[in-house]
Amino acid sequence: MPRREYARFEARIDRTDRAGADATAEVRARSARGLRAGADAGGSVSTTAATPVGSDRSLVDYAKSLDCIHCGLCLRTCPTYQLTGVESSSPRGRIHLMRAVAEGRANADADFAEEMDFCLLCRHCESACPAGVRFGEMMEHTRGALAATRPQSLRTRFLRWLGFRVALPHRFALSLAAAGMRAAQSTGLWPAIARPFAPREAGLEHFPKVPSWAERRALPRSTPARGERVGAVAMLEGCVMPQLYGRVNRATVASLAALGFDVHVPAGQTCCGSLHAHNGDVEGARALAKRTIDAFDGELPLVVNSAGCGSHLRALHHLFEPSDPWHARAAALAKRVRDYSEIAATRIATAQGSAAGALAGPLAYDDPCHLCHGQQIRSQPRVLLDAACRAAGIARVELPDSESCCGSAGIYSVLRPADSQAILDVKLATLARSGARTLVTANPGCQLQWEQGIARAGLDVRVLHVAEVVERAFGAGVSAAAPRPRP
Ligand code: SF4
Ligand code: SF4
Repeated sequence: MPRREYARFEARIDRTDRAGADATAEVRARSARGLRAGADAGGSVSTTAATPVGSDRSLVDYAKSLDCIHCGLCLRTCPTYQLTGVESSSPRGRIHLMRAVAEGRANADADFAEEMDFCLLCRHCESACPAGVRFGEMMEHTRGALAATRPQSLRTRFLRWLGFRVALPHRFALSLAAAGMRAAQSTGLWPAIARPFAPREAGLEHFPKVPSWAERRALPRSTPARGERVGAVAMLEGCVMPQLYGRVNRATVASLAALGFDVHVPAGQTCCGSLHAHNGDVEGARALAKRTIDAFDGELPLVVNSAGCGSHLRALHHLFEPSDPWHARAAALAKRVRDYSEIAATRIATAQGSAAGALAGPLAYDDPCHLCHGQQIRSQPRVLLDAACRAAGIARVELPDSESCCGSAGIYSVLRPADSQAILDVKLATLARSGARTLVTANPGCQLQWEQGIARAGLDVRVLHVAEVVERAFGAGVSAAAPRPRP
């Protein structure tokens, strides 16, 4: 964006800052009356939008952008705004840029693309927004359109093809990659081999060791409930999860079985496509959505232990036009999606056990963005952790910034390692001050990010998934239900 135009943009935002409080009050009142509110460029609320001229509408979900009333309540929640203090790196600024492009007042140039890439898609801004702006959907739309139109280097195209089309959708390819990575880590060659695929700042030397094959092997197709049977669930095995955190999947199955659920892991499932959707590969996301819908045909609740996948699956139908037959099937699947904590929390009061020493205390929980902001799930993990802490005889502490992004954000930590680590550093300082010795999360990307950051900072903190904590706290009883290897 030209400098003069940018200055005008900043000045306009300054005016909307002053108008923000009034606009917020007005949109709340309009919302209460059931009216859809729009906002003009000066920040005053109107119910009709200006007609764009010379616009590039294909890049922007323009209708959704009109929901923003420029109140600025989202600014303090945005990690990239906190990092830079620059309006264009804030949710409000990004929406303003999108509208400017759609209305032909700005070009979708490199600066525009940079601000879209800089966003973590953490959706913290959605939780703060009084106008119900669906920022995540807007950003996915814009990234998808940018990926389809902007020129990419041969290296970028190759890496996207390798990651999105070869590795993630195919378990065998991922398994080979994991085995190769483990061998490279064992021989000390890993940083040199990985260097062409990620920038130096990505901190590859702190990448956790890929587990052994025994931990990476596939889950049993079916694990019966132990004791009183209360129901049955289907489970998403995931793509990265089995390769890096097979122990989390096993803890998920074991603890659900111990809590009275038959756990089915259908064949034919693969990556759900959330990483594709977040990074502009809409076609790839659609193809994987269809495979997931077919694999989970039926009526069982679909348990997901990865917050990013769960959030994506709950909105799967947005990938398809309403007239597309896949839209209805995706919507039906989305209704059956449950986070692990939602299912386990319904039965945790029945869990028996005492596992003094199984967990190092105090324990702290860091909300994955796509669980708290993407799925509005905050209390259920805490219910499970409080029960586990009681069983293990340790305390749980709250982190004041637990809902802020850790900087993982899918593959953001690989694509933008310096930004990702700067965002994590703020949270590492909070973690260190808390005195916690166990940090709990509910998403493999966050788990990886925290493990790398904690190793880099030299903290004595163990990172666990909620399901691992439940399994450890209720010790022998839950472990006895560990799944048998597939014959
Ligand atoms: S999704 Fe996160 S990083 Fe992006 S604008 Fe919203 S709060 Fe900021
Ligand atoms: S996105 Fe929501 S919170 Fe942020 S400025 Fe717009 S209306 Fe306000």
